[in-house]
Amino acid sequence: MHKHLTQTDPEIYNLIVKETNRQRSHLEMIPSENFVSLAVLEAMGSTPTNKYAEGYPGKRYYGGCQFVDEMEELAISRVKKIFGADYANVQPHSGSQANMAVFMAVLEPKDTILAMDLAHGGHLTHGSSVNFSGKLYNFVHYGVTQEEQVIDYDQVRKLAQQHQPKMIVCGASAYPRTIHFKKFREIADEVGAYLLADMAHIAGLVATHHHESPIPYCHFVTSTTHKTLRGPRGGIILSTEELSKKVASRIFPGIQGGPMMHTIAAKAVSFLEVMQPSFITYSQDIIDNAKVLAETLVEKGITLTSGGTDNHLMLIDLRSQKRTGKAIEKVLDDAGITTNKNMVPFDTESPFVTSGIRLGVPALTTRGMKTSEMKIIGNWIAEIIFDCDNDKIIEKVKGEVQELCEKFPLYPEL
Ligand SMILES: *Cc1c(COP(=O)(O)O)cnc(C)c1O
Repeated sequence: MHKHLTQTDPEIYNLIVKETNRQRSHLEMIPSENFVSLAVLEAMGSTPTNKYAEGYPGKRYYGGCQFVDEMEELAISRVKKIFGADYANVQPHSGSQANMAVFMAVLEPKDTILAMDLAHGGHLTHGSSVNFSGKLYNFVHYGVTQEEQVIDYDQVRKLAQQHQPKMIVCGASAYPRTIHFKKFREIADEVGAYLLADMAHIAGLVATHHHESPIPYCHFVTSTTHKTLRGPRGGIILSTEELSKKVASRIFPGIQGGPMMHTIAAKAVSFLEVMQPSFITYSQDIIDNAKVLAETLVEKGITLTSGGTDNHLMLIDLRSQKRTGKAIEKVLDDAGITTNKNMVPFDTESPFVTSGIRLGVPALTTRGMKTSEMKIIGNWIAEIIFDCDNDKIIEKVKGEVQELCEKFPLYPEL
């Protein structure tokens, strides 16, 4: 691999080797990360990257698009089939671009959007003040209940009636429970709002019916392709036929120029993988693994937001241990376990410190780990949280993490 890169740019080559080895030798538990197949990797490093193809299949602004047209058509037909959508756009460079295009398709600057609070699980593009979304639109935020820490649908309805948003956004980056899209649609209809489901995190689970599908209830559905869907880094938009023209023209020429055809080729490959029976098993393993990891942590006395998980992720609430997310992220990293600090609902720490750790199992599940490994890993994490000043524990776990990683080799062919 990388025969030419070694010659041309040994500095970058060496860094890529180091990064590959880092992925191999750590337990990747950031819920938004995954490991793509070698087929997807090959498609990403391929010649369609050379091709300009502004426009859409059959309607391009450049010549020579006959083959990239077919690639994009394949990606579109596969993803429509997977989710049962009327229309699919596979050109968004990322999940953020997908959301931006949907906002711009039907809203004007300063319009009101109702979305989930960041500290309760929402995403930057759902109205953070440092993001384009918060700067361009008037966001109102709902959250989870104090008690059960599940989405407060009564609050969603109250805020919708009070603020009459033009759009309601459901979907999250750090919400461990099932999202009830039907309830959101009822509320959206009551106030005449568009409904956007941002299923970036759960798309793979939706594809295999391990999470309720937003498609029947939403005007728009956006997603990333690189999280539970296990494809290349990128985004997609699904919509009704009626809204398809607006979506298409907002992606191009609205906010993007030429599509990344190598990435679209890789998206098509990953969609084909999602259509295989083995992907259903993969989603089921994710659900089983997350459940067992959550149970193990709870048994050890760790508090989880909402008490557990229905999907691929969970949030550790460190307030009862008087620890911060920042500190625990660091010690887990020292032990070879990669996670991220995260706000928990009603957090009093800043976003840079936080009181939470977000954990996910999609990447470990791709490596082939099952529930028995989750028990072991859950015990390590609990051990470290309770004894985070003890270097001996961290060294011990680090050694055990190494051994476990070697039992589940990543990219042995590379
Ligand atoms: C990850 C994520 C995105 C954005 O994805 P990028 O590809 O990083 O831009 C959008 N929405 C949600 C809910 C996400 O979790």
